[in-house]
Formats: sequence, C-alpha cells, structure tokens
Amino acid sequence: MKVIEHIKNTNKTLFSFEILPPLKGESIQSLYKSLDPLMEFQPPFIDVTYHREEYVYKRKDNGLLERRSVKKRPGTVGICAAIMNKYNVDTVPHIICGGFNREETENALIDLNFLGIDNLLVLRGDPIKSEIYFSAENDGHSYASELLMQVSDMNKGIYLDNDLRNTVSTDFCIGVAGYPEKHFESPNMFSDIHFLKKKVEAGAEYIVTQMFFDNQKYFDFVKLCRENDIHIPIIPGLKPIATKKQLTLLPQRFHLNIPSELVNLIIKSKNNDEVRNIGIEWAINQTRELIEFGVPCIHFYTMGKSDNIQKIVQKFI
Ligand code: FAD
Repeated sequence: MKVIEHIKNTNKTLFSFEILPPLKGESIQSLYKSLDPLMEFQPPFIDVTYHREEYVYKRKDNGLLERRSVKKRPGTVGICAAIMNKYNVDTVPHIICGGFNREETENALIDLNFLGIDNLLVLRGDPIKSEIYFSAENDGHSYASELLMQVSDMNKGIYLDNDLRNTVSTDFCIGVAGYPEKHFESPNMFSDIHFLKKKVEAGAEYIVTQMFFDNQKYFDFVKLCRENDIHIPIIPGLKPIATKKQLTLLPQRFHLNIPSELVNLIIKSKNNDEVRNIGIEWAINQTRELIEFGVPCIHFYTMGKSDNIQKIVQKFI
C-alpha cells in the first residue's frame, strides 16, 4: 500500500521507521535484530536509506596512495525486498540523484516496479563525503525536483526512449524531504520553501522532515508551507539523542539546532546511559506534543539502533 493511503486511512498518529543498510560485509541479520523489536508497533512503512559511493585512499606497495570509489552501504533495493518478504510491511527505498545518470535511474525504477515496490522517497543526496559541493553525473539530475519529474513521467508511461511502444506506467507514491530549519545550502527559508513547492508541483505527495529537537520549528515550518500553498501531509522526523558526541555530530551532519535546555541536560550527565535516558524523555515529550498537534505519522530515524525508539513508541501504543 502507498504511504499516502496509509495516512488517509488512519485517524490516529502512525509510527514509521527509517533504517540504514548494514555496512558492506555485515549480515542482514544485524538489521533484523534492530527491526524485530519495532515490528510489534505495526509500522505502516519502513524507509531504507541510500548511500552513494565515497572515496577511500589505499596505500600501494610502492608507497603511493590510490584513490578508490567504494559504496560502504550497498543493498537498499535488496533490503526493501527482504523486509517486505519477512515482515509483510511496505518499504520506501530512498533514491537519489547523486551517482546516477538518467538511464541508470530509469533501470533502477524498473527494478523497483518489478519487485512490487510502489513508494519512493526522492532526494538529491549530499555531496560525496570528501567534496564540498554536490555535482550531478553527466546526464544526471541536479535537484530532487528533476528526479521527481522523471519518476512522474514513468508514472505516465513516459520512458527515456520515446520509440518504446505500449510502455507500462509505474505507480510510485512519491515523498520528498523538507527542512524545518532550512536546507543548509539555501540562502533563506523562503527560497527553500519556493523549491519545496516545485517538488510538490512535480508530483510529491507527502514531505518527511529532517530531524528537529524543538517542535516549534516544525509548527512554524508547517505554517509557512500552508501559507505558501503546500497542502500535502508533512511527516515530522525525530531522532532521540543517544551519546554526548551527538551534540556536535548532529548539528555538523544535519545542520540543525539543539535547544539549550537539552544541551545543558546532556552536558551535565555523567555517562552515555544517562544521555540515552535524557534523549528518550525528550523525544517522548516531542512525540506527545506532535500527536496533540494532530500529525498523521511520526518518522523515527533509527540509525541502526532501536532500543531507545522502542521505549519511546511503546508509551503511545
Ligand atoms: P533538493 O530538494 O534538490 O534541494 C537541495 C537544495 O537545492 C536546497 O537548498 C534547495 O532549496 C535548492 N534547490 C532545489 N531546487 C533548486 C533549483 N531548481 N535551483 C536552485 N536551487 C534549488 N541523503 C542520502 O544520500 N540518502 C538518503 O537516503 C537520504 N535520506 C534522507 C531522508 C530525509 C527525510 C531527509 C530530510 C534527508 C535525506 N537525505 C538523504 C539527505 C539529502 O539528500 C540532503 O539533505 C541533500 O543535501 C538535499 O536533498 P533534497 O532532496 O532535499 O534536495
């Protein structure tokens, strides 16, 4: 079933989860181990992230360094299929512009369609880790809205080769990313909302937000979207803080603010067990307030760990 149908068919707040493919060389069992405890909450869908290649440097016998391109977390499509098969739950693979030209994107979409996957989160993707700016492949897409148009075309039976006859139309439900604290490259919030609206006009049916720790940011973002004629569901994304290190890692990686009250609690804590409990309590309060606000679904970023998410969600079941 499509994400948008899950949202329309419910009168209570749903809980969905986002997982990462295991690191190359690890077994899928590690992923099942963290997903198993979450399945009791009957998530309507599970997102699986996509990780593009990055560069690693290997020292050769002659002492020189060789740059290699490596995908450290391959397997997004296979994991989606495995999860659907094991748990009978809908999956949402993330697809990105980075690293794909249009034909490779088309072929990936054909694979997903053959597997019976009818949901996608369409993204641009970040720059390669060692690079500052995002650059598109030759004949690839520069922005999520362009990739979205390719998916929308396939939903109408329009493929790249217009000599193809009697083509099958795909039927993907398309979600996109939104940023309550603005995307880091955007000059201001209004510009970001302007381009978010382009994604909606190109066929996005719902938005999932970047994580935030202050619900007011989400409420303001929803208001701004509605004022700018963006009326599709906006699913808030939450992540409980779990380590002291994340106080600096999360703002650096995701370009967000952490409220002083939460920062102070974490700084004062004696160890990461305490931090974990603080993160859980904070996320429980965020969840409670978001449910009261009437959000259709709350999306939890698991980042490979589920015990803290389990403690949060079970408070509301
Ligand atoms: P876009 O919507 O293309 O926007 C990127 C920037 O360009 C924004 O600043 C926007 O305002 C601007 N912009 C958009 N269109 C135009 C235009 N036509 N002209 C000028 N400026 C424009 N990354 C991964 O690699 N894999 C994942 O699985 C993944 N999952 C994610 C899930 C969620 C819920 C979120 C919020 C993010 C995820 N990301 C993932 C990160 C995402 O790829 C990055 O944040 C990326 O930098 C932007 O992606 P986007 O789809 O929002 O890009």
